[in-house]
Order: sequence, then structure tokens, then C-alpha cells
Amino acid sequence: MSVSTGSAASANASTAESRVIEPLYAEVLRRNQGETEFHQAVREVLETLGPVLAARPEFVDARIVERLCEPERQLIFRVPWSDDNGDIHVNRGFRVEFSSSLGPYKGGLRFHPSVNLGIVKFLGFEQIFKNALTGMPIGGGKGGADFDPKGRSDAEIMRFCQSFMTELHRHLGEYTDVPAGDIGVGGREIGYLFGQYKRITNRYESGVLTGKGLGWGGAQARTEATGYGCVMFTSEMLRVRGESLEGRRIAVSGSGNVAVYAIEKAQQLGATVVTCSDSGGHVVDEKGIDLGLLKEIKERDRGRVSDYAERRGGSATFVPGKGPWTVPVDVALPCATQNELDEEDALALVRNGVKAVAEGANMPTSPGAVRVFQEAGVAFAPGKAANAGGVATSALEMQQNASRDSWSFAHTEARLEEIMRHIHDSCHTTAERYGSPGNYVVGANIAGFELVAEAMLAQGLI
Ligand code: NDP
Repeated sequence: MSVSTGSAASANASTAESRVIEPLYAEVLRRNQGETEFHQAVREVLETLGPVLAARPEFVDARIVERLCEPERQLIFRVPWSDDNGDIHVNRGFRVEFSSSLGPYKGGLRFHPSVNLGIVKFLGFEQIFKNALTGMPIGGGKGGADFDPKGRSDAEIMRFCQSFMTELHRHLGEYTDVPAGDIGVGGREIGYLFGQYKRITNRYESGVLTGKGLGWGGAQARTEATGYGCVMFTSEMLRVRGESLEGRRIAVSGSGNVAVYAIEKAQQLGATVVTCSDSGGHVVDEKGIDLGLLKEIKERDRGRVSDYAERRGGSATFVPGKGPWTVPVDVALPCATQNELDEEDALALVRNGVKAVAEGANMPTSPGAVRVFQEAGVAFAPGKAANAGGVATSALEMQQNASRDSWSFAHTEARLEEIMRHIHDSCHTTAERYGSPGNYVVGANIAGFELVAEAMLAQGLI
């Protein structure tokens, strides 16, 4: 494949933009009204595809982008369940099976009151390119429910998961669609979901869900993989700039699965994480976050970061109602939720000398904030590259399930490291190849898109 360079290339790219991308984006807005997060995710990808569409007119002729913006299948279903008092509740469940060009639909389930179709579609759309970047044979999908697990007993969570799976099971299968966790869905929920799937189908189909417990088909290092992978990617970005994480001050937002293991890996690599957060506010600990205490509060007690400040004593303070982005740091890792870091936060980080930002969460950085980082020369890694370690390790879990094998932690972590380096390098070289050196957003979008588009061309009009 050849790519034209210089001014001819940029002229071709802007022709592709006005001829193909602008009308297509207008059509996406028209057909998916009110789905603002989905619009944002599509726009961010479309904005970067001009050069590849100019270089590969066959992608335009086959209407690859139009087809990618329309999910292969969208499921919306009722989830009735009863609480511990016998009161009945009705939630809405979703599964959006976006693209199966590269493998079975793969992507997590989110249980959070904010979940709606637009959020699930934004996450599913991102997942297509992320999964392609891993180099593993997995398509893109996402799901969830507008259920709020906060404050619910284990028995209530179990009844909800069972009701959710009673409908969803008919759409799943290790060769069809393989969900995993996301916000509000961790090991406990995957256990209840798997149990119900097994009961209904009468099959011990280990590969139908990932994020399982280690004793029953789960993979070592899956819990750690998203956070670890995000820090590995950051480390690679710094390496190409002749720098490292050693001795750096880091801000992490969130204190869930991704955040906790981003903190762990950053500490292993010699950095000091001075702040983390939850939806109640952030905690600043100048001595560095005490990870043992944080895990105890978050993973065992299901508590808040405000409890951390109280139990840590003198070195930690809790700042209610605010994200952690005004704390001076060298590296920022947003690991909580979408659009949690806006333009004003980005300006504060840049003023304080931030050098690298990597998205552990999906789309946590607003478009204006991404621009601020890029204009200031900050190394910026989009989530579809930086947090792909989680789904990549899910694919490793599927491999182990298929071969009825189980690998050691060290072996799996080494594979993860290799995969994150591969993702970094392919984003880096693709950005260079298409005339945007150092722009990981361009690199990730085009590298992921090319792989999916090639498969779609080969598989015909479906
Ligand atoms: P968890 O549920 O384990 O943790 C989520 C964290 O984010 C909690 O600390 C939560 O605080 C905080 N949070 C959630 N919503 C908000 C909000 N509106 N404002 C402020 N803080 C909020 O989820 P994960 O760690 O699994 O997921 C975090 C992000 O990473 C999501 O964007 C997810 O899509 C993404 N991701 C996750 C992967 C995984 O393997 N788990 C893989 C790839 C991406 P609180 O408890 O107060 O709600």
C-alpha cells in the first residue's frame, strides 16, 4: 500500500473530508438523535480518517465508514428484579453488537444509572478500533444496564444479574458475543452472570464471559491488566521522548478496577501517585497513595476515598466535589469515566507542567481538553490504545479457556507488556506514516480502522 505525502496528501485528505466525512457525520447526527456521547466518539474518529480515505479509495467505494457507524445489532430489554424487601424494580438492559469483522463481539457490561443507548453505542464504537489494535481476533460490542449497584446487598446484585442474563444469554456464546466487566461490573457480578448462563444453557462454556474468578476459568493478571497496560503505554510514550516514569508525580482519577492497578504499576515503576478520586471528590496524599489501605477500603469494604483520608491520618486530605486535575503532576491518568477532564482541567495540568496524559477510562478527556494537550506538546494517549490491555488480556483468557490451560501471572503479564508495546509502536508508526508524527489519536484511529476495513472488504457486503 502506498501513501502519498506532502501537500498533495493533505489536499486529498481534505477532499475526502468534505466529500465523504462531513455528510456522513451529518447523517450519524440525524439517525442517532440525542446520543451525544456516541456523536462525540464518532466525530473523534471521523476527524482523523481523511488521509486514509484519500489513500484508499476502495474503502470509500465500499462505504466502510457508513457501515461501521451502524451497529450490526442493537438489543434493548427489560430487566425486572425484586429487592430484599420484596419491592419490584424494572431496569433497562442493553447489548450493542457493533462489529464482528475480526472475531466475536467483545466488550464489557456497565451497570450505572447513567447508562443509556448513546453511552453503550459510544463505548461499542470505540471498542471496534481498540480490539483491532490489540492484534487479537475479537470484534467490538458493549452492553449494560441503568441499574445502580451502590448500596445494594449481594443478594440483590445476584437477583439483578440473574434477571439480566435470563434475557441476554440467547445472544451470547464463545463464538458469538463475549461480555466482560466495566463500571459497576467486577468479579462478583461476572460470577453471578456466568452461573445463570451455565444454568440456563446447561453448558460449562468458560469462554462466554471474561473476568472470571481464578479458580473457575479466569486468567491471572486480567484484574490488573487495564491499569497495568495504561501505565505500560505511558512508559513507552515517555521512552520515545528519552524519559521515564521513575521519580515522576502522577495523578490518577477514579479508585475502581482500572485506577487501583494503574496506581500499582506506576508505583512498581518508581513513580509516586499523589492523588486519586471517586465521584465524591479526590484525596491528596503527598507521601504517595498507600495502595494496601486503598485496596482494603475499595475492594474489601466497598468504601469511599474520603474514608481513605480519614484512615490514612496526617499525610492525606480529602477535597470534596472536585476531580484531581489541579494537583501539580508530571503525568495524568484519567481512569474514572467519560468527559471527566475538561478544557479548564487540561489548562491547569499544562500550567503545572504535565508531560504525558494517558486515558485509562474510555473518552475521559473532552475534545477541547485533547486539543489543549496536543497544542502544548503533551504526549496524549487515547483510551482505545492506552486501555486496550484489559480486553487484550480477556482475549488471552479466551485462549486459555479454549485450550483448557492456565498460565502463570508472570507469563500473562509478559504477554500484556508485549501487546502494549505493539499497540504503542503501531500507533506511533501509523501517525508518522500519515503525516502526524507524535499524534497518538490519529495513529490509533487509523491503525485500528485499517485492520477492520481490510477485513470488511474481504468479507463482502454484509
Ligand atoms: P469501576 O466501577 O471499578 O470504577 C469506576 C471508578 O470511577 C470509581 O472510582 C467511580 O467512583 C468513578 N466514577 C464513575 N463514574 C463517575 C463519575 N460520573 N464521576 C466521577 N467518578 C466516577 O470501573 P472500572 O475501573 O472498570 O472502569 C473505569 C473506566 O475504565 C471506565 O471508563 C471503563 O469504561 C474503562 N475501562 C475499563 C476496563 C476494565 O477492564 N475494567 C477496560 C477498559 C476501559 P464511584 O464509586 O464514586 O462511582
